[in-house]
Amino acid sequence: MALKYISTRGTAPALNFEDVMLTGLATDGGLYVPEACPKISEQGFKAMQGKSYVDVAHRVIFPFVEGSIDDGTLHGLLKDTYAQFHDEEIAPIVSLDENLSVMELFHGPTLAFKDFALQFLGRMFDYSLSKRGQKITVVGATSGDTGSAAIEACRDRDCVEIFILHPKGRVSDVQRRQMTTVTSPNVHNIAIEGSFDDCQDMVKSMFNDQKFRQEINMSAINSINWARICAQVAYYVYAWVQMMDKVDRISFVVPTGNFGNIYAGYVAQSMGVPMDKLIVATNKNDILHRFFQTGKMEATTVEPTLSPSMDIQISSNFERLLFDLYGRDGAAVVKTMDHFRQNGPFEMDDETMTRLHVLFDSARLNDEETSKVIKTVHEKMGYLSDPHTAVGLGAALQYREKHPETAHLVTLATADPSKFPDAVEKASGVFPELPSFLSDLHQREEKYDVLPNDLNKVMAYIRQNMKQSSAA
Ligand SMILES: *Cc1c(COP(=O)(O)O)cnc(C)c1O
Repeated sequence: MALKYISTRGTAPALNFEDVMLTGLATDGGLYVPEACPKISEQGFKAMQGKSYVDVAHRVIFPFVEGSIDDGTLHGLLKDTYAQFHDEEIAPIVSLDENLSVMELFHGPTLAFKDFALQFLGRMFDYSLSKRGQKITVVGATSGDTGSAAIEACRDRDCVEIFILHPKGRVSDVQRRQMTTVTSPNVHNIAIEGSFDDCQDMVKSMFNDQKFRQEINMSAINSINWARICAQVAYYVYAWVQMMDKVDRISFVVPTGNFGNIYAGYVAQSMGVPMDKLIVATNKNDILHRFFQTGKMEATTVEPTLSPSMDIQISSNFERLLFDLYGRDGAAVVKTMDHFRQNGPFEMDDETMTRLHVLFDSARLNDEETSKVIKTVHEKMGYLSDPHTAVGLGAALQYREKHPETAHLVTLATADPSKFPDAVEKASGVFPELPSFLSDLHQREEKYDVLPNDLNKVMAYIRQNMKQSSAA
């Protein structure tokens, strides 16, 4: 039976998986969620023991896509997706002590956990589009990490053309080179003479220009896409399957920005993973931590930190959790979200917060604390972590101090330390080298064009370059 997806704002039409994946945002401005969450029984988890990551992911993802893609095709796409990873276990779990582990999610081609979902999404897009005889153009802005993961996911895909805008001179060398050394003809890097916000504003304007949007069949592969969420549910289940013989329950600590990763943990819990706590770990940009502590959602300005991929003010995936908290009442979500956009802060009642705290907790670390965690975890536990992972590890250690009886804590390691070598070296004294498959990154040839901060020029560039590559 094919699962239907409904919008968190209640009025967009229900769609199947494939249409949800290709649409992204619902027409009423909401996010799509499954009408009912598929379940896995204890027997079901037991049956996955000893299975490969691909087999577990297949078992977890299939109920979400049934009706849109057949069993064998899904397995083939997953096999191809995770063949790009540089660790046989795909998501190895490293034990730090008897009740603290890290699950390493950074063995993909761009060294961050986003590869888990984007490598899958790129292949799913290509599969669906070629079946339909369609092509899309992905246009995105990046301050670093997402751009390279999206480019790696879309490179050499026949049905996808990708344009990524980055602010010239304002992304790190490693980040820029991870994007600009991909020389596939369907990949177009543009360095904008402006800031990240300028880049993002241009992408938004292009999306709002209906004529242009249709002309190029423009699409986004941002983190609200359900296909990304369901790919991420798989590693929570995988962790539980590894642990289930040793512990009764499990807790996860998740370095959080857009709330996509931790929301996937919530879905895993809804599917049946016996979770004690899901802990939101934030840096100084702590809107979510403040919300979980006080019940008040209030945006402030974004400040740069050592963990840039978590420098986010409004976490778009939070709306999916809100929908469940409101008893799946789309009208109530609309009311809150409209209020939040127009008038600012909203507050949750105590009863709802009590329900929320059964599963969720939160912690915050500033840069100084983050550096200290990198140093002490390296010295005391022999584990070198990147600044994002360190925020999670710090949150785990804080939580354990307050709750010594806690279930086994698994911290998600979201990036390889070598992606942020300067911060890691400064904190620990150890310079993390890039893995061998990227060791020649600084010698590879770069390909990108520099454009002024001018919307019309960027649109003309996109039109021009699309024509050239479809003629080729
Ligand atoms: C994107 C990212 C995060 C934040 O994940 P969300 O799903 O946005 O909450 C954390 N760490 C790293 C390294 C990332 O790239």
